[in-house]
Amino acid sequence: MNPTIIEDIKARKVLDSRGNWTIEVDVITRLGFGRCAAPSGASTGKYEVVSLPENNVDKALVEVEESITPEMVGMDAEEQEVIDSILKEVDGTGNFASIGGNTAVALSLANAKAAASSYGLSLYRYLGGNFATEIPYPLGNVIGGGAHAVNATDIQEFLTIPVGAKDAKEALSVNSEIHKRAKAALLKKSKYNLGKGDEGAWAPNIKDEEALKVLSAVSKEVTGETGVEVRLGMDVAASELWDPKAKRYVYRQEGKKRTTDEQVEYISGLIEDYDLFYVEDPIQEEDYEAFAALTKGAKCLICGDDLYVTNVRRLQEGIRKKATNAILIKPNQCGTLTDTYRAVSLAKRSGITPVLSHRSGETVDETIAHLAVAFGCPLIKTGVVGGERIAKLNELIRISEELSTQRGRMAALQ
Ligand code: PGA
Ligand code: ZN
Repeated sequence: MNPTIIEDIKARKVLDSRGNWTIEVDVITRLGFGRCAAPSGASTGKYEVVSLPENNVDKALVEVEESITPEMVGMDAEEQEVIDSILKEVDGTGNFASIGGNTAVALSLANAKAAASSYGLSLYRYLGGNFATEIPYPLGNVIGGGAHAVNATDIQEFLTIPVGAKDAKEALSVNSEIHKRAKAALLKKSKYNLGKGDEGAWAPNIKDEEALKVLSAVSKEVTGETGVEVRLGMDVAASELWDPKAKRYVYRQEGKKRTTDEQVEYISGLIEDYDLFYVEDPIQEEDYEAFAALTKGAKCLICGDDLYVTNVRRLQEGIRKKATNAILIKPNQCGTLTDTYRAVSLAKRSGITPVLSHRSGETVDETIAHLAVAFGCPLIKTGVVGGERIAKLNELIRISEELSTQRGRMAALQ
């Protein structure tokens, strides 16, 4: 008897962390069960696959029941590539406009989890085998604004990376300590105005450099007490700042507009001044050349999110043009586990660091923690606080517990 034959599929709508409906899928095999809920973005890349048909979860549910379930039942969940190509065939549009990339990603990942569970394995072990040995460093979103908050910083995310942490628990505790202390430090600057953005980062009404100064001071304080080295990063989400008509990056808090050259110079200056370890989307998603200009001289990770949208063809172009040295990996940007893996694998073969990531709209689904470990990603971006963020972080602790009987060390960082 083949334990991984798909017997049934159930899809339902559930709420995400922004209170929007999203799709959750159960895949039931003869001996296993897998469940996955799709996340959603707010500062989405122009070239991502379409997330839901007409932005409507009910339509997606009808698609699953009428067109996808009949094709998948009776298939072998272990044949992930076959399952993923069925999803593409049923969709037929090339960008999941018909069934929705979120429908596809929930089915694709639930399928892998069902196959793993049929063998009594965790997803990271099923996918990564004996190569899954390392825990990624968490990029903690401590302060932010942009599309994730109202009237806060222009740059979307100010991140901390506890590069000196010896294990997952230490890494998580340093990030959350910094998050706690940042509150008090920020209240001194923006007294009666301190909410949180969609990912749980503090969202003060201050200029970007002030946020970097606060984060730098707080991180130093925590390093002083714990001895754990912490470096800073940011997700500029520059496509959100870019005004294509004026051809300028618009910084509202500073009242400043920057040309592309000025943007490259500005970001290079911030990298230098704050010894940044990681900078995501410093340039808008169409401009590989300016990305390359920045990456050329930068002594830090320059990561493409909206630039690549976890798409192999866009990554190939980036590699050709030497646009970045890192790529953000978001499974729902491309819609299947197979394509997600292809992007990770091309990145690794090309010396590009893969960074697995949540979306700003999330559920308590923990799958990305397993993918990061399975794929050997040295970094994972999944916030610091909030139930939907700690779901992934706590799963890393559970995984590291299992790994500690083998090696369980933190990943190698460049
Ligand atoms: P998003 O933001 O999920 O809203 O796209 C996250 C990011 O830009 O990294
Ligand atoms: Zn981003």
